[in-house]
Amino acid sequence: MPRKTKLIVTLGPATESEEAIGQLLDNGANVFRINMSHAKHEWAQEMTRLVRKLSAERSLHRAVLFDLTGPSIRTGEVDRPYELTIGDTVEFRAEGSEPSVDISTTVNYPGMMDDVTEGRTLVVDNGTLLMQIKVKRDDRILCEVKNQGTLGSRRHINLPGTRLNLPALTDKDRRDLALAVECDADYVAGSFVRDAAHVRELRDAMEALEGNAQIVAKIEDQEAVRNIDAIIQAADGIMIARGDLGIEVDFEELPLLQRGIVKRCHQLGRRVIVATQLLESMVQNPTPTRAEVTDCSNAVYEEADALMLSGETSIGKHPMRCVEALVRISRRLERSGGIGYGESVLLRDERQKTAKAAVSLVDSLGDAKLVVLTRRGVLANHTAMLRPKTSDFFAFAPTERVCRQLALTRSVRAFQLPFAHSIDETIERAVKLLKDEGLVEPGTPLVIVSDILSDHIAANSILLHHA
Ligand code: PGA
Ligand code: MN
Repeated sequence: MPRKTKLIVTLGPATESEEAIGQLLDNGANVFRINMSHAKHEWAQEMTRLVRKLSAERSLHRAVLFDLTGPSIRTGEVDRPYELTIGDTVEFRAEGSEPSVDISTTVNYPGMMDDVTEGRTLVVDNGTLLMQIKVKRDDRILCEVKNQGTLGSRRHINLPGTRLNLPALTDKDRRDLALAVECDADYVAGSFVRDAAHVRELRDAMEALEGNAQIVAKIEDQEAVRNIDAIIQAADGIMIARGDLGIEVDFEELPLLQRGIVKRCHQLGRRVIVATQLLESMVQNPTPTRAEVTDCSNAVYEEADALMLSGETSIGKHPMRCVEALVRISRRLERSGGIGYGESVLLRDERQKTAKAAVSLVDSLGDAKLVVLTRRGVLANHTAMLRPKTSDFFAFAPTERVCRQLALTRSVRAFQLPFAHSIDETIERAVKLLKDEGLVEPGTPLVIVSDILSDHIAANSILLHHA
């Protein structure tokens, strides 16, 4: 049975060779993530070129996702990392100001002093260093160290529960976005998106550059969670960025938040990605921990569109084994059935109701396969969101870009096909292609759903056709 859950792999030193990317494609990677927090522009261009070339050689439609750094708060340059012990006082000050205590670093966001409150927690370096804010002044804050650790240069700072007035996009993000557009990226992800306006700002900036990428909003803090509905509606897809989110909320909230966001994405008809630390121990080890297997299996059970690997494939020792592990876990769980949030999708227009009728029909027939004719991919995404039971789910679209942008969508396999003037002719071509590829046998029932123009009428139609 074909796998339904899509896989996103992050490229990095461990996977930057032509051979490695080819192997990732052969092992089942659907989307290749370029993390602009680390990637140099020339390297990102080269990676995009390789993914496109190697996908084309294999007749696969695989996508490239540019993940923007976003407006994160970072420590400045320190001469030597500070070794901190419990009870130490650490100062974070505005750039250009003088230190007032021994352990002091600047931060890249002067507004931080206005946003924080005394008594709150400050976290440095992805949760490794916890502090409490003791004193707040105009140009600096003083914090008490709560656990032993090291404070280095350009370390990421989280302020759980603090509402930040950071901009949606930094200057670096704008330069990286221009590169993404130049590379014709299929998706651009915005980091630390906090409300729908941030998503719109990213989309507007991308459209002003005449880009065609779809927008993924990364949910990384409490404010994004509060504004989740509006963010989901403004974006094309959502990434549950559990790395930062797991610092910004109490960790026991994370599984419930994940499930709630996955459900809401289903209801509102947006694709959803579960990301970060899925197979973290495999950065070093050749096999996953039992807890990781269970976590990955849970995300597949929740019927997320895609699972994402980060360090596991970018810097890990066993990138191919990680992809293999996700393939095995996905396929196994998919055989036993998922949570069924596809039942709660809100059907808002005729097109969505047509998709629903097609999915009901194909599910009730047992041996039938699902075919979607989709000009822009919208109907294919709606249909996929209903989580049809069949794993034979094919979409036909006239352009390569639409096929690539379906790489993130659960279950669907996309084929590029020029649409004929009449819908009958288009169907004939699609069925012939499926037969030629050995994907359907003569006589197989096909449920074909389309909203393409037929003799200049936009027709929502469902057809039960025998191949
Ligand atoms: P990052 O985002 O890898 O860009 O930090 C993902 C996350 O925070 O989980
Ligand atoms: Mn993050």
